[in-house]
Amino acid sequence: MMKIGVLALQGAFREHCWMLEGCGVTAVEIRRSEELDKVNGLIIPGGESTAIGKLMVQWGLMDTIKSKVKQGMAVFGTCAGMILLAENIIESDQPRLGLMDIVVVRNAFGRQRESFERDITVSELGAESLKAIFIRAPYIERAGRNVEIMARVEEKIVFARQNNILVTAFHPELTIDKRVHKYFIEMSRKA
Ligand code: GLN
Repeated sequence: MMKIGVLALQGAFREHCWMLEGCGVTAVEIRRSEELDKVNGLIIPGGESTAIGKLMVQWGLMDTIKSKVKQGMAVFGTCAGMILLAENIIESDQPRLGLMDIVVVRNAFGRQRESFERDITVSELGAESLKAIFIRAPYIERAGRNVEIMARVEEKIVFARQNNILVTAFHPELTIDKRVHKYFIEMSRKA
């Protein structure tokens, strides 16, 4: 049986676990480095990226996750998770994994729109549109050559992939649409 880990230090990890179970795979909450040996992929949830980053350092997870992803483990970051995967975060020196060749801007859609929804189409996921929920969301300002851009909102990149790394600025775990998680499960299977 396929097992996917969900980093469970802070933030919306339970919703990801429910979504994974709904997709027929086993979800494993990850709090210690050793627990990563048992999983085929890892989700880093939304929440507060500075808090999650500090806890990752404290719990010794930063280096383990980095080396696992470099060895090919699939990883999926949503919102704060996307920030933590970025090499560059505008005006921030917060701890991060820095594995993806992207520049992100935090809380980037403006205070007046703390959260909003948008229907987006993602060709990799079929013709039917996807409801994307943004909560104090970041976006990708620049992406390297090896980054595949999967969706944009108002010209901003909000969904992207670089080999075994997948990121969304929005929260697919808060909808009933399983396509993004299924896509990531397939990535993990191939990794
Ligand atoms: N604004 C948060 C941060 O910068 C991310 C918000 C979220 O994950 N929903 O960490």
